Amino acid sequence: MSEETTGSGLALLPGALSGRKLGIARRIVLSGQRLTVEALAAKGAQPTADERERLHAFDLATTVVERVDAGGEASRLVVRLADGEQVESVVLGDGGVCVSSQVGCAVGCRFCASGIGGLRRQLSAAEILEQVAHARAIDPAIKRVVYMGIGEPTHNLDAVLDAAQVLADDGGVHERSQTLSTVGSTRAFRRLTDSSVRPSVALSLHAADDALRRDLLPRAGHEPVADLVAAADAYADATGREIQYAWALLDGVNDRDEDVEDLVALLRGRRGYVNVIPWNRVPELPFATPHRERAIAFVQALRDQGLFATIRWSAGVEAEAACGQLRRTRALGGSQG
Ligand code: SF4
Repeated sequence: MSEETTGSGLALLPGALSGRKLGIARRIVLSGQRLTVEALAAKGAQPTADERERLHAFDLATTVVERVDAGGEASRLVVRLADGEQVESVVLGDGGVCVSSQVGCAVGCRFCASGIGGLRRQLSAAEILEQVAHARAIDPAIKRVVYMGIGEPTHNLDAVLDAAQVLADDGGVHERSQTLSTVGSTRAFRRLTDSSVRPSVALSLHAADDALRRDLLPRAGHEPVADLVAAADAYADATGREIQYAWALLDGVNDRDEDVEDLVALLRGRRGYVNVIPWNRVPELPFATPHRERAIAFVQALRDQGLFATIRWSAGVEAEAACGQLRRTRALGGSQG
């Protein structure tokens, strides 16, 4: 038995098992249960002597080092990777989990804690999947996965799609119940269209005006927002699923009447809806959370002009604008409040 195949998590399962046994083993791990020889045998996948030896000390390669419960429904998890890096996942409490796809992020959105330190490294598919395993150990009923944590999923698309495929095949999460949140690019939409697994998409707009979007998302690419929306619309047609257009609402920045007008002009007639997320405060960033009345009025104005629009108050949980805060707080040596 080689040491590398022992106790190193999901990444090494394909080296230890194959075919039907590999699928069963993944199902056990992704359900949040401990993978043991006995658990495999109980599912009718009796391991050989060699496989028994390889699985003897199986454990995940990642560890939950901190769990913060938020208001009795959601739980934020800080997950330590084998090399000591950390990412965040959020058990959403509604049958979903929000996972990270990178350590840090290169896009550098000005309102996001995750982008402050830049990109440190990519996550492997196994590291993405182990976040689901940890979440299911807390909530076995998880049926939905959102790639909305730390990182820009399309900058690590091979690993994200590999993880999505395994979740669809062996994790009990249909592709339509997986949502990839992205700042978007026409190339990424083409790759998604051609992929064997095609998750739902949330396109992070945050501005409908090109100059404002470039300012808020400085390294998101310079494609005109109209081109991104056209590509998203084509993906919606290809998959038969609506696009979620995410809008982190920033006081005085993108909550103005002209922002409503620009957004309505951009999305009218498109196959999708706007998810408005009042921004969650990050102490070191120069933005403010809009007043509740202003946020409600913004959404109502969109609806009055014919768009489908929702507002999500749990910004600290599911907004990618906030997902990196716990890890960032730890990195700064502060305490999570
Ligand atoms: S909002 Fe998303 S894309 Fe932008 S820096 Fe944060 S993690 Fe990256």
